[in-house]
Amino acid sequence: MGDLSCERFTDLLGDYVEGVLRSDDRPAMDAHLLDCAQCSELLADYERLPGLVRRATHVAMPAGAKARLRRLLSRAWSWHR
Ligand SMILES: [Zn+2]
Repeated sequence: MGDLSCERFTDLLGDYVEGVLRSDDRPAMDAHLLDCAQCSELLADYERLPGLVRRATHVAMPAGAKARLRRLLSRAWSWHR
């Protein structure tokens, strides 16, 4: 536990919120949320996104959409790096 990086957390965030995350990744995500205030904020921000955006990023998740999502969320953790 606790070996999940913030970058990996961001990669898995969509699946986590949509409840389709691989079951063996979920405990690491939960543990990271407890350890990392920044990623808790990121999760809260993501959950505020319109459902359409979330579905779009989840269903297709092409590199372009993922990059846009990262940019959208980057404000939340730009100070984190
Ligand atoms: Zn984190």
